[in-house]
Amino acid sequence: MIPELPVGHPWFAAQDAGGGITRLIEPYVDPFLGSNVWHVAGTERDLVVDTANGIGPLLPAVDALSGGRPVVAIATHGHFDHVGGLHEFDDRRCHREDADMLDQGGLRLLRDAFPDWLVEDYAWYGSPLPDVVALSAVPDADFDVAGWTTPPTEATAFVDEGDAIDLGDRSFVVLHTPGHSPGSICLLDDANGTIFTGDAIYVDARLGWDDPAAFATSLLRLRGLDIRVVHSGHGRSFDGAELRTAVDAALRELG
Ligand SMILES: [Zn+2]
Ligand SMILES: [Zn+2]
Repeated sequence: MIPELPVGHPWFAAQDAGGGITRLIEPYVDPFLGSNVWHVAGTERDLVVDTANGIGPLLPAVDALSGGRPVVAIATHGHFDHVGGLHEFDDRRCHREDADMLDQGGLRLLRDAFPDWLVEDYAWYGSPLPDVVALSAVPDADFDVAGWTTPPTEATAFVDEGDAIDLGDRSFVVLHTPGHSPGSICLLDDANGTIFTGDAIYVDARLGWDDPAAFATSLLRLRGLDIRVVHSGHGRSFDGAELRTAVDAALRELG
């Protein structure tokens, strides 16, 4: 039996992260699957970093922030919980090495329909599986809980090491930081000491990697940056000192 779920509206909750940056989160999604969407306002265009699971619409939440400016949406990597809403954006980018992850679908919402790799992910990260369904609400009354899967899409452009994303009054440079996935990137605003790291580094939860040697190299690179604030793919933001502490702990686990 699929439980009757209420309609959750709006689907995303917005939190001011300071410095012209807004964090958007999905309050009705199982906490393990929840990820951060970051909106950065620029004078010429806005930047969206990651797009969450794609269960409910992201674009209305972004439109409310972007004031009609063009929006560049960039996925820090191709995992389902960061690219689900990417299809909603006309300008959607990722690193070439994760491009083929975008059309694979992936997530299912009923616990009994979870693919094996997702059950293994819950175990790796030490999160309890949902009892029946990975939602506490649905985005609309007609939502098909049993039939839904991650909306597939294709990138309209690729980003790579050294590319600049110019928003007008501020600019981000792409750092290719493989290890969590082959095409993982970070976006660094050097002038403001601000970085978006996706799943290359976050705090308060276990990290994951598919290439330990590449991951260690990427972590050491991040450790050497002069950073004031880190906005990561999951959980809270943190400062440069905590970044270095988190990197050191991860390097110990990697051995
Ligand atoms: Zn990931
Ligand atoms: Zn993630």
